[in-house]
Amino acid sequence: KTYNFYAGPAILAEEVKKQAAQAALEYENTGLSLMEMSHRSAEVTAIMEEAVALTRELLNIPEGYRVLFLQGGASLQFYMTALNLLDSGKTAAYVDTGAWSKKAIKEAKRCGGVDVVASSSDKNYNYIPKNIDVPASAPYVHITTNNTIFGTQFQEIPDFDVPVVADMSSDIFSRPIDVSKYDVIYAGAQKNMGPAGATLVIVREGALGKVTRELPSMLDYRLFIEKNSLFNTGPVFSIYVSLLTLRWIKKNGGVEGMVNRNTEKANLLYEAIDNHPLFYGTAAKEDRSKMNVCFLLHEPSRSDEFLSACADAGIVGVKGHRSVGGFRASIYNAMDLAGVRQLVKVMESFQ
Ligand code: PLP
Repeated sequence: KTYNFYAGPAILAEEVKKQAAQAALEYENTGLSLMEMSHRSAEVTAIMEEAVALTRELLNIPEGYRVLFLQGGASLQFYMTALNLLDSGKTAAYVDTGAWSKKAIKEAKRCGGVDVVASSSDKNYNYIPKNIDVPASAPYVHITTNNTIFGTQFQEIPDFDVPVVADMSSDIFSRPIDVSKYDVIYAGAQKNMGPAGATLVIVREGALGKVTRELPSMLDYRLFIEKNSLFNTGPVFSIYVSLLTLRWIKKNGGVEGMVNRNTEKANLLYEAIDNHPLFYGTAAKEDRSKMNVCFLLHEPSRSDEFLSACADAGIVGVKGHRSVGGFRASIYNAMDLAGVRQLVKVMESFQ
């Protein structure tokens, strides 16, 4: 057995992969692979409708919000959110909690002013800034709820006085969220949903149409709302696998079920790190991510030795990102407790 701890593209539930493989061969007795079917067919329309409905149900999305499945990844959303919400002459607030926040800031600057209201760059992003002050004039504040590279996560989303735009690429569907706080939530599929290709966007309709610039069709949320995400050919297969994951989440207790599962896994792993004489965690304890667990060796020269012990035990994907070094275990929704136990076992026998 291989235990997949990669940060993304990442682990998918076994039953999701089996159903996806079946659909890749033949979708529901149609004689066609899902990859061969029109995005306007009755079958794909049903997939789109169920994916939207299940997203609404699992995240308890109120009226006035629309659910879209777009292309371009979270990286396109860095620009698209600002293009749709930040008029030139206005200044949006951004919280800088790591590499992905920095990229969001860079793209937003193409559209208007950016005020970096808080940053944890002084300590290589190993914590989440507290008491963040956002000017009331900001059209929105942008946050990255989970910092995939640095292993930090907002445990609670602060109460801001302005709407929030959030990159939830690496913790969407891992816990309940109060959608009414947000103007836009976005997430690439390839961590907690499915294969790369689809990007989930949840947008408050009332926030749109306020910028004065003319929007290119492919970057205008309103057009995708009007066309139920399919203004052009959408990433159907990625959306379908995301739908299979959403069904799996529902079957496993919804996002509340995911909280229990993720808390148990994260506690087990952080406890092993804290109690081990050779390893230590990099993120501030109160800001530790339940999705990406970053840790280092007191003797860095033994890193390759640990990675090869992992490989011998079927564990892949635990090499840390170059900006932190050491190790990173990504324990997204689909990772089960047995996988984390296997990693802990290897750590314990590594003395
Ligand atoms: N935001 C976060 C928090 C991420 O972890 C990633 C990818 O790892 C991205 C954005 C970029 O996503 P994409 O590759 O879909 O553009």
